[in-house]
Amino acid sequence: MKNLIKKLHPNKYLIIGANAAGINAAKTLRRLDSNSRITIISKDKSVYSRCMLHRVLDGRCTS
Ligand SMILES: Cc1cc2nc3c(=O)[nH]c(=O)nc-3n(C[C@H](O)[C@H](O)[C@H](O)COP(=O)(O)OP(=O)(O)OC[C@H]3O[C@@H](n4cnc5c(N)ncnc54)[C@H](O)[C@@H]3O)c2cc1C
Repeated sequence: MKNLIKKLHPNKYLIIGANAAGINAAKTLRRLDSNSRITIISKDKSVYSRCMLHRVLDGRCTS
């Protein structure tokens, strides 16, 4: 019964920011609460790792 209620009324989470903290928060929430609805809002147009920017700039990665 508890599982059915959770399925019908999943927890909803809103994460502001889609970088290291935001993505890890989403991964952790998904692991702890697999049925939840997660919305991520970010100023960035795409999700990327700042730590990997140097690899993109020097051509070692394409994206
Ligand atoms: C070039 C570069 C290389 C780096 N290399 C390394 C490394 O090798 N190792 C390492 O440990 N760290 C590195 N860092 C630091 C690492 O990127 C930061 O510590 C990490 O990005 C912090 O993550 P964060 O999610 O806390 O914040 P941020 O990365 O600052 O992300 C904040 C997020 O919130 C969003 N946001 C902000 N304001 C709003 C708003 N008002 N509304 C909606 N969304 C908003 C932004 O768009 C962004 O998605 C590097 C940083 C840079 C710039």
